[in-house]
Amino acid sequence: MTDLKTMYRELGIDEEIFRLGEKTERDLSERFEAIDRTAEICQMKVIAAFQKNRVSTECFETSTGYGYNDLGRDMLEAVYADVFHTESALVRAQITCGTHALALAMSANVLPGDEILSPVGKPYDTLEQVIGIVPAPGSLSEYGVSYRQVDLLPDNSFDYEGIRKAINEKTKLVEIQRSKGYLTRPTFSVEQIGSLITFIKSIKPDVICMVDNCYGEFVEMKEPSDVGADLVVGSLIKNPGGGLAPIGGYIAGRADLVERCAYRLTSPGLGREVGASLGVSRSFYQGLFFAPTVVASALKGAIFAANLYEPLGFSCIPSASEERHDIIQAVTLGSPEKVIAFCRGIQAGSPVDSYVTPEPWAMPGYHSDVIMAAGAFYQGSSIELSADGPIEPPYAVYFQGGLTWAHAKFGILKSLQSLKDAGLLCVPAVCNERENVV
Ligand SMILES: *Cc1c(COP(=O)(O)O)cnc(C)c1O
Repeated sequence: MTDLKTMYRELGIDEEIFRLGEKTERDLSERFEAIDRTAEICQMKVIAAFQKNRVSTECFETSTGYGYNDLGRDMLEAVYADVFHTESALVRAQITCGTHALALAMSANVLPGDEILSPVGKPYDTLEQVIGIVPAPGSLSEYGVSYRQVDLLPDNSFDYEGIRKAINEKTKLVEIQRSKGYLTRPTFSVEQIGSLITFIKSIKPDVICMVDNCYGEFVEMKEPSDVGADLVVGSLIKNPGGGLAPIGGYIAGRADLVERCAYRLTSPGLGREVGASLGVSRSFYQGLFFAPTVVASALKGAIFAANLYEPLGFSCIPSASEERHDIIQAVTLGSPEKVIAFCRGIQAGSPVDSYVTPEPWAMPGYHSDVIMAAGAFYQGSSIELSADGPIEPPYAVYFQGGLTWAHAKFGILKSLQSLKDAGLLCVPAVCNERENVV
């Protein structure tokens, strides 16, 4: 019988990295059990929503053209609304990505003269041009929508006094980003988001609280929509698509607000009545069905990586022992060479395009060159094991995903092997022979 060590060796993992991996995994068994328990609860939530709505094989049929009376599309939106415990949801292939979903949710719900507030510091890079923090044609700023931001306090807590002062008669929509994105602040828990929303509503009850839920879905038993968010927004090539949705975004929340999103997405008057599903419905349903266990695999990968890299002297956010609120792991590597080697290792561990060597490039919407590793079935799918490294200090990589735990583990070990092979790292046992360059 071929053993795992031999298979790993054939796939380029030496014995030392293999042993380090096995030990790291053994030490994490209790945390992995807790993750499986959360996944089980989220899985029941999804199954209950499917059953309540009587999802049937007819739902997997498709529409073309205008897409009138597309049962599968409409029912999926009811299923999403039930999973997120909201009045309504818009889940569409015509929502091209997470940024588009967020831009749509904001632009549909503000008017000239209104103000958007981010009470959690700078929003995700790509939203800077949507809002107009960085000037761009078609930004909300061009339409007379102003923007205000309250940064987190030095200890990364909410600046409640600052937020109180920032809320004014123009404040219409509050944008709360759950995940840290490319920042080094922590990701907020659903509970923290709930406290923030309660505080904001105590000052201005009718303000719309929208949560950028990217990378957060199914990490916890609750979603921001369970703790007062009026809108939750995300991408289907992240968590809720379960790795099977080939495109798409969702907006779930209060019916009147979601309705405005539908009118903005298609056209006033037409709204959600049009938008052909073009054959993607089955993968949207099946992806949502898989999502809780896929998210669990990705979470295990993130925790495994932190517990592998932190003892080697690399600072990890979240840290090896920290509780998780999204699937992203940041590892500060400290040099461009290490960022590049890490990403090349992830790529080399991929099922698709494993022979490709990624290079840094000037990605649209980002400040610096970014190197991306993504041997994915779907372009840019970041619920699949993938890594992005902006080539700028502190030279951190942000990685996420893993459709299966076994692949997440293997890919992360490949990243470590890649650093070692490039002479950029010594693991403890070989450091006796060589200078420790970590
Ligand atoms: C990924 C992400 C987005 C944008 O999503 P895209 O699909 O890449 O456009 C927005 N916010 C956060 C926190 C994200 O992680």
